Amino acid sequence: MERKRSAELYQEALRLMPGGVNSPVRAFKAVGGHPVFFERGLGARLFDVDGNEYVDYVCSWGALIAGHAHPHVIRSIQERAAAGTSFGAPVPGELRLAGLILEAFPRMGLVRLVSSGTEATMTAVRLARGFTGRERIVKFDGCYHGHSDSLLVEAGSGAATLGLPGSAGVPVEIAARTISIPFNEPAAVREAFRRFGPEIACLIVEPVAANMGLVSPIPGFLEEAVAAARAAGALIIFDEVITGFRLAFGGVQAILGLEPDLTCLGKIIGGGMPVGAVGGRREIMEWLAPRGPVYQAGTLSGNPVAVAAGAAALEILQRERPYPGLEEKGEALAAGLAREARQAGVPVHINRAGSMLTVFFTPVEVRDYRTARAADPERYARFFHGMLSQGIYLPPSQFESWFLSTTHGWTDVENTIRAAHRAFREL
Ligand SMILES: *Cc1c(COP(=O)(O)O)cnc(C)c1O
Repeated sequence: MERKRSAELYQEALRLMPGGVNSPVRAFKAVGGHPVFFERGLGARLFDVDGNEYVDYVCSWGALIAGHAHPHVIRSIQERAAAGTSFGAPVPGELRLAGLILEAFPRMGLVRLVSSGTEATMTAVRLARGFTGRERIVKFDGCYHGHSDSLLVEAGSGAATLGLPGSAGVPVEIAARTISIPFNEPAAVREAFRRFGPEIACLIVEPVAANMGLVSPIPGFLEEAVAAARAAGALIIFDEVITGFRLAFGGVQAILGLEPDLTCLGKIIGGGMPVGAVGGRREIMEWLAPRGPVYQAGTLSGNPVAVAAGAAALEILQRERPYPGLEEKGEALAAGLAREARQAGVPVHINRAGSMLTVFFTPVEVRDYRTARAADPERYARFFHGMLSQGIYLPPSQFESWFLSTTHGWTDVENTIRAAHRAFREL
């Protein structure tokens, strides 16, 4: 498979942008080689600038649950864009998206639309600090909540891929207010709240962690964490930027019956356009400007084209309720991959939740950031390239989740398992 044009474009990109990319994980640093430049997507398919075709398991990092260029989404974007792209003033489409979100999350009293997941989590943390009058926050090692100062401590996603425990440029005074503890360890949560309880504004968590690779909560972990935070008077923030409309219409909180005070959304709710959201209990949300003293704003927040795309995506999910089908395909894919790895004698541990999964190249169970990091990144890199050369586009890092869309067919799943048969054997 030739990728000559991609290689040329990457050389040119290196002259124009830091590392040649506008978001770090795209740079292929963890797997080697150069990024693939894409021209077109359709359903579960991607087409690169050299004319190669791939089955896509990145799906814009989970955003495209209905696949690339879904006709309902594209029509909504085109119709809206033709009537003007931004006014910096309210448009009816904002109500449509906000209404769909509140319908999906019945415990959310109010929602504010922003332009990224990072803005959503940053706003949620500021709101929690403003509302409680406290400054410390608790997060979990390997969870990623965007790239704001307070949250780039032991963060997952690109920070995990590059092995960065923090970021240069974050003042130590700010990082010191963030307590990061191991995921899936109730004792660590109890200890954090025992020591710092009255100073803690909030606990923020990905209820199913997807940015250290996929790691589900062990039974009772979230319930204990929520109880400890509540007992200390801290707010509970569920970062459902990935999971919000991925595992259920209403997120992990709907599945587990948990009641966070604030919820952050992103990715899927933009339908492939930049949209994020923070929502929660009315009395907390009313602390946001212009009602309250916690400031937050955005020139392009609630952008008409972006909210049209997002509402169209949520309408598809509301209408089709694709979750059982996604679960079935996810299960079959994980089972097929596990079988192929076993037969090839390659020790892997596959974590899956619904249509998200990660193949960790490690013989031990992965249940937190420490065990995730024990997985072999070089083996993953070779596997990644083995799959890429057979037209399967996987996340270019061990510490990310694969995503299925509603447009992945059974043939795609079978072809992927067949490709894995070869890729595992060639390791
Ligand atoms: C992607 C992600 C974010 C950040 O969203 P951006 O739109 O990339 O800023 C925050 N939290 C989680 C759980 C994410 O997966």
